[in-house]
Amino acid sequence: MTPASIKSHAAALGFDLCGIARADRHPKLARLATWIAEGRAGEMTYLADSADERADVRHTLFSARSVISVAVVYNTTKPPSSEAVAPGEVAVARYAWGADYHVVVKQRLRELLQWLATNAGPGFEAVTCVDDGPVQERVYAEAAGLGWIGKNTCLINPALGSWMFLGEIITNLDLEADLPGVDQCGTCTRCLDACPTGAIVAPYELDATRCLSYLTIEVRGAVDEQWRDSLSSRIFGCDICQDVCPWNRRAAVSDDPAWQPRGDLPRLRLIDACQLSDDGWIERLKGSALKRAGVHRLRRSMAYATSELPDADRSAALDALAQHPSASAPVVADAIAWARRT
Ligand code: SF4
Ligand code: SF4
Repeated sequence: MTPASIKSHAAALGFDLCGIARADRHPKLARLATWIAEGRAGEMTYLADSADERADVRHTLFSARSVISVAVVYNTTKPPSSEAVAPGEVAVARYAWGADYHVVVKQRLRELLQWLATNAGPGFEAVTCVDDGPVQERVYAEAAGLGWIGKNTCLINPALGSWMFLGEIITNLDLEADLPGVDQCGTCTRCLDACPTGAIVAPYELDATRCLSYLTIEVRGAVDEQWRDSLSSRIFGCDICQDVCPWNRRAAVSDDPAWQPRGDLPRLRLIDACQLSDDGWIERLKGSALKRAGVHRLRRSMAYATSELPDADRSAALDALAQHPSASAPVVADAIAWARRT
């Protein structure tokens, strides 16, 4: 078994990129502790709780020698999604338009792991991660040559762009590593300039507590009022700093059925989202990355988003929201009350 045969099998399983990094203490891994100490992680306390493991994959797999890093393109449209949102529609980050990547990428990684186990022989050890383990995925992806971590903190591949899911197999196989990705941001500052909340506080440095992705998905209670105008029609995630990136002008487009938009995404009307019953949303969240936010947080963001509507439409949308059992949850009730006042 060679790196070439591993990459060939990864490609056959649907991965667009595959590279190998040493399971070492790469210098960028150390930044996480500082970032957390500066308060940039907000309510994501699980990051601090697992900071030691995240500093070195050998805390996750003691015998680790290599990290096999993979990426799969999820982009399904050419035009930037933020610009494509029409009045009255909600914006959902494009990574959540199709199937839940945790499930799909994990299944493919398990198949790759099974193939490795079959071919590696006795003593083989490995674990898989898809945004679900204490692994700084982008650092290993960069070290494995899949691209570079841009000033917007996303992993960018010069040929494919940044609309990619990442995953890893941490293993005790001693594999020859690839050369790391080379930073090609140059003098560009488009992502910093475009971020509506100034969340990219410096090149390569994200303050998650200001990021609309964090605010719509991770924050469980009310979103601080200072950010609600910036949320605009976003009810899940934010794509702006990737939409404006010149490396996404010719981003790869996937025809993988897993990532094709489900239902009426990405053209979901806010009034329809507000009218859909709680059971309807629960059904809709099955098999979707949207379930990370859950019904209450989505309802909260819908209420904030009604501030984008003309007065009559806003009242109708808020009345529709208020009829569901979820509207009695404090976070939703607070958001509806705020939206009625504004
Ligand atoms: S995802 Fe949106 S809010 Fe977050 S850093 Fe990028 S542009 Fe800013
Ligand atoms: S927008 Fe420019 S600075 Fe930001 S990640 Fe893309 S190339 Fe780098």
